[in-house]
Amino acid sequence: MEVSFHREIEALKLGQGDVFHGEGILAVTKGLLQSGVTYVGGYQGSPISHLLDVMVQARPYLDELGVHVEACTNESSAAAMLAASIMYPARGAVTWKSVVGTNVASDALSNLASPGVLGGALIVVGEDYGEGASVIQERTHAFALKSALWLMDPRPNLPTIVRMVEHAFELSEASNTPVMMELRIRTCHVKGSFVASDNRVPAISGRRLQQQPPAFSYERLAHPPSTFRHEKLKYESRMPAARRYILQAGLNELLPGEHHELGLVVQGGLYNSLMRALQELGLADDSGHSRIPLLVLNVVYPLVPEQLEAFCRDKKAVLVVEEGQPEFIEQEIATHLRRAGIDTALHGKDLLPMGGEYNVEVLLRGLRPFLERHAPALGTQQLPQYLQSLADVRAQAAAVLQAPVPARPPNFCTGCPERPVFAALKLVQQDIGKLHISADIGCHSFATFEPFSFGHSILGYGMSLASSAAVKNFSAQRPIAIMGDGGFWHNGLLSGVSSALLNQGDGVLVIMKNGYTSATGTQETVSTPSSESKRVAEGSSATGTEMTIESTLRGMGVQWLKTVHNYKVAEVRDTLREAVTSPFRGLKVVVAEGECQLERQRRLRPIRAERLRQGLRTVRTRYGVDEDTCTGDHSCIRLSGCPTLTVKDATDPLKTAPVAHVTNGCVGCGLCGEVADAAVLCPSFHKIDIVAHPGFWERLSHRFNQWAIQLLQGHR
Ligand code: SF4
Ligand code: SF4
Repeated sequence: MEVSFHREIEALKLGQGDVFHGEGILAVTKGLLQSGVTYVGGYQGSPISHLLDVMVQARPYLDELGVHVEACTNESSAAAMLAASIMYPARGAVTWKSVVGTNVASDALSNLASPGVLGGALIVVGEDYGEGASVIQERTHAFALKSALWLMDPRPNLPTIVRMVEHAFELSEASNTPVMMELRIRTCHVKGSFVASDNRVPAISGRRLQQQPPAFSYERLAHPPSTFRHEKLKYESRMPAARRYILQAGLNELLPGEHHELGLVVQGGLYNSLMRALQELGLADDSGHSRIPLLVLNVVYPLVPEQLEAFCRDKKAVLVVEEGQPEFIEQEIATHLRRAGIDTALHGKDLLPMGGEYNVEVLLRGLRPFLERHAPALGTQQLPQYLQSLADVRAQAAAVLQAPVPARPPNFCTGCPERPVFAALKLVQQDIGKLHISADIGCHSFATFEPFSFGHSILGYGMSLASSAAVKNFSAQRPIAIMGDGGFWHNGLLSGVSSALLNQGDGVLVIMKNGYTSATGTQETVSTPSSESKRVAEGSSATGTEMTIESTLRGMGVQWLKTVHNYKVAEVRDTLREAVTSPFRGLKVVVAEGECQLERQRRLRPIRAERLRQGLRTVRTRYGVDEDTCTGDHSCIRLSGCPTLTVKDATDPLKTAPVAHVTNGCVGCGLCGEVADAAVLCPSFHKIDIVAHPGFWERLSHRFNQWAIQLLQGHR
């Protein structure tokens, strides 16, 4: 990874009384160190990637504290790390993107939750839900319920987030139960400040070694008959202990308001949006005072029955503001109130949508009928100005945009090495017909959009080969599974490759070997080339000389294995066609090699800038289109999709169609030239080397060329 977190690492070193400024997710990182954490692990993914990225780069400082950091190969291995807290009084934290990461980790989580923990264990999950999410829309809450793990959902402000991180370890130790903390996208990226404390040196660490392992205890193993006792412990001992701690430490917040006949129970993470909605209704002021009492649940599981009952008992009506489906919190509150014989009217999903993000507009639309029904005197019947202004903007937009606006889906970066592979695959399909394509998680999933539209399924990270296992048996042509190197190491090696070998599967696997787990922020994998090999590879687009994926596949017994250079489109096309049509029975793997362009540019740009600063000869390559030759049929665009290959009006008045045009953003990856050659397109592309600080002979030859061109043009 070429991104530097130097500033963030300095913020981690702040001590007692210093003021920390930054994002919510970095506040969590600081909170972990202030809590005396012994070890941290995880698997990256939005919106929690920064937690792990910063920790990994901060290793030298963490070594001083004796804190161990591990960039795990998947969420399952991260969850398994927490086993260190089962028998040792060592605090540990792991992180990943949820709900997908929690799915992967759930086996280890179940086996962790059963025996419980001695040292505090915290699982920080990025709740990737709602607008801006990139995964299936499900709730982590379900995992907390099924395994009896406690779930925090802190109010999105930095002091509360840090306070909850510190309490999470206390809660975990008080109830011998791992604690999950769900951080929504908005919570991770909320900016603010808090007064820091000193980082705590952990009691057990790499600097304070344990001389003996703990005494053997079968009761601490998730094995029968211990598991039967564990189940009783969860509900008879651990949950009551957790509820006591939640009450005593005041983790949930009771915020009074003068309309005490009403009440709002809100997940902590939704507090900011709810306050904004109340403000629009004239029911909250700028300092955060609500005129309706609030129960803010910074811990959404377990709920504390006596707290809920006390809040609801004398109220006419309560609205539960709970995002996502199903309505776990609302159902539990209804059960507690019914059992306690409290007949307060309870609303939630009857007034608010069952699914989707609860933004301010959605909350306003839910609050209005609640208030109209139970407090008409508050005069909120009129359309608040906020909703009116949204409606006005939409009406204006609709008037301006008479015709539908074309969608602007996400796309590969300019010069991405994965684009040429899909261009080649398009050419293969032109030759041999349509193929079933199992897509996967990663940058290559951008090929599901135009101009490629490839992919018949996406079943999870590293699951493409496994998801083509049945399809290949009833398809006349072999299906192709696409996987990134991130997905390969995350899951694909075992779920896909070993299963295909065991079953003598006859599929085709294409592995995009770009050198990083690019889609999650270009983190390194075990096959990321070392800096040394990157230097060897300098000047080419190859990722270097390390061949770990290939050697792993050979070691596993893959017999049909070919590595291609992505930008050689004709070679990639021929290899893919061969893989699909070869008489060889068994798994065929094509390793498509080309370094992630984003990371490559991050690496090369500073080098280039330094050379320019020193006045050294520096070459930048880009491509161009000869407008006179371009026929305007745009076949090149349909085979590429590069954002810098676009169209412009022809300057020739006889050409009515716009011509292809390469903007200055071109990084000179070479795809344009290759695809024009492989697909036998028009010869309008040309390569341009832009030379800064040219040498004497180059300047001389340039002058001569200029002179010759002028002469010939004058002659013409
Ligand atoms: S991050 Fe890298 S692999 Fe992903 S689209 Fe950009 S260049 Fe391609
Ligand atoms: S050569 Fe073509 S595909 Fe590559 S960056 Fe330039 S315009 Fe994009």
